[in-house]
Amino acid sequence: MSTEPGLWALDVVCLRHCTRYTVLMTRPPRRIIEEVIFDDLGPLSARELLAMSRDGWESLRAGITDHRHGKTGLVARCIACHGKVYITTAQGRPLFSHYQGSDPRCPWYTGRNMHPNDARAAQYLGKQESETHRRMCELIAELCALDERCEGVAVDEYLPPTENATGRYPDVLASWRDFGQFAVEYQMSHTFQTEVSQRCIHYEREGIPLLWVLSSFDPARVPQPVSDVVHRHRGNAFVLDRAAIAWSAPTEVVHELG
Ligand SMILES: [Zn+2]
Repeated sequence: MSTEPGLWALDVVCLRHCTRYTVLMTRPPRRIIEEVIFDDLGPLSARELLAMSRDGWESLRAGITDHRHGKTGLVARCIACHGKVYITTAQGRPLFSHYQGSDPRCPWYTGRNMHPNDARAAQYLGKQESETHRRMCELIAELCALDERCEGVAVDEYLPPTENATGRYPDVLASWRDFGQFAVEYQMSHTFQTEVSQRCIHYEREGIPLLWVLSSFDPARVPQPVSDVVHRHRGNAFVLDRAAIAWSAPTEVVHELG
């Protein structure tokens, strides 16, 4: 990429003016996507994204992910390679990132190379996490069953579709007297946003209310996946932590602390 000592060439495609130009820089290119263009909303720079309110950029983020999963949503593209991008976070601040499989020749490309040790570590953590997740779902079901309004509850059982092509396995599916069925998804801090979006779309189509229950909530330190769920619940966080479980069991009513 270096053209002459101390200068780096950066090829940029400007979609607003349909031109390709080369920028000479005195520093190596920073590997962040500096500007994107939304199909319907127009361009947005990384700087503008940073200046947006959390609610603003989370709406964009949710729109992009929704589109990825077949809903109308939003499409944003890197202005350098025209590849589709999404909004991720680093230290709680939003930034654009290419979807996997983007053009490695893009000057703002950041490849993902996982060290074998890291892959093993991720697999191990995933296994630990799924066991905890399963246990928590069973606990939610047990707490539901204690409530006299509960007419039935199932954990991780196949729910055949009525509107979608395929069904899903809701974490917990409860039938409530005078209310009907609702699904509960239990989110630990590492559930990915793609999953959040997919599940929301699925249950919305099926007409089944979906309640996200979080493993913990610390307003001072909110991981992005948690914040996505809170955003989709209009700013509410439902938490089933130790205090809520202790409170629910003796009174035989399921409470979620907001
Ligand atoms: Zn790009």
